[in-house]
Amino acid sequence: MPIDATLPYDDQNIFAKILRGEIPSQRVYEDDFAIAFHDINPQAPTHLLVIPRGAYVSWDDFSARGSDAEIAGFVRAVGAVARAAGLVAPGYRLLANTGLDSHQEVPHLHVHIFAGRKLGPMLA
Ligand code: C5P
Repeated sequence: MPIDATLPYDDQNIFAKILRGEIPSQRVYEDDFAIAFHDINPQAPTHLLVIPRGAYVSWDDFSARGSDAEIAGFVRAVGAVARAAGLVAPGYRLLANTGLDSHQEVPHLHVHIFAGRKLGPMLA
């Protein structure tokens, strides 16, 4: 079910539980600002999710309320995850669904990294 990105943060969401280690994930990266793990339902040969450690519902929430240090740290973490996975030369796609029309399902900001095949033109 898509979520409304204007709702307050719910600390019982599934990615909050993954962050706290209450639910297992295939973690590939972590630093002070972010963790990254494999998506459980991959839509490409490589499909990773990068999430900030802070409690932010969406890209909108993060860009409005996140500190400069958190935002810089998170952006650098996304790049570091892609580099560590060897995705820079073949290329990769980033996606951050935000709110109802985008079909965001988990109310904790996450950036998808898709790679491992020719992804084709961006869908509208
Ligand atoms: O952008 P959106 O909110 O739709 O994406 C949520 C993503 O989280 C989905 O790709 C889904 O497969 C993934 N997911 C996951 N592990 C969970 C629950 C959802 O990787 N436990």
